[in-house]
Amino acid sequence: MKTLGLIGGMSWESTAIYYRLLNEIVRERLGGLHSAKLLLWSFDFAEIAERQHAGDWKGAGVLLVEAARKLESGGAEALVICTNTMHKLADAVQAAVSIPLIHIADATGRAVVGAGGKRPALLATRFTMEQDFYKGRLAGEYGLRPIVPNKAGRDMVHKVIYDELCQGIVRPESRSAYLDEVGRMQRDDRVDSVIMGCTEITMLIGQGDFDIPVFDTTRIHAEAAIDFALG
Ligand code: GLU
Repeated sequence: MKTLGLIGGMSWESTAIYYRLLNEIVRERLGGLHSAKLLLWSFDFAEIAERQHAGDWKGAGVLLVEAARKLESGGAEALVICTNTMHKLADAVQAAVSIPLIHIADATGRAVVGAGGKRPALLATRFTMEQDFYKGRLAGEYGLRPIVPNKAGRDMVHKVIYDELCQGIVRPESRSAYLDEVGRMQRDDRVDSVIMGCTEITMLIGQGDFDIPVFDTTRIHAEAAIDFALG
């Protein structure tokens, strides 16, 4: 089994979910006392979120590259950035190390295509919904047509991520707001599936809430990472 280097803490709420999933998936596949071989770099998320909201992606990149190099020199054989949003910096991180980076959008794109999705609703941070680094990869590499909520919907989805989920707060009214937004997108935008494109959204909603396929990027990414680790 190969050792994975996790770049986490963005937020730690979802990194904790990754930690459990990675170990559970290894146990499912190998049985007994087997568990994942992991190194974890966990950021103080306040330092990252501050740079994100100031548009200081260069500064955030310096921090991620530093973490990636430390994980590589500590023995990691692949990198897992435990957030969709920070894949904005995936190319810079990959260029700084000689071990592979397991890209969350690739794992997600393959899963959506495999299930026959074409017009997935993309629920994520404003950065992921409004910039091209993630949607562009899904469109360019996987032929998907990701659809994002309207402005009011994007603001709501983003605010719930930062003000609630990343702080460990799960509110039934936010769950209803997410479900209402997807319902509206099913009617108005003919979305055929849902990408939970932020690694904390799995705390709030899941497949059981919908009658269309739902793609949980946290689980999909963890599965892809263990596929690599177990080769
Ligand atoms: N974990 C989230 C994501 O998957 C949001 C926090 C962040 O900006 O990294 O995008």
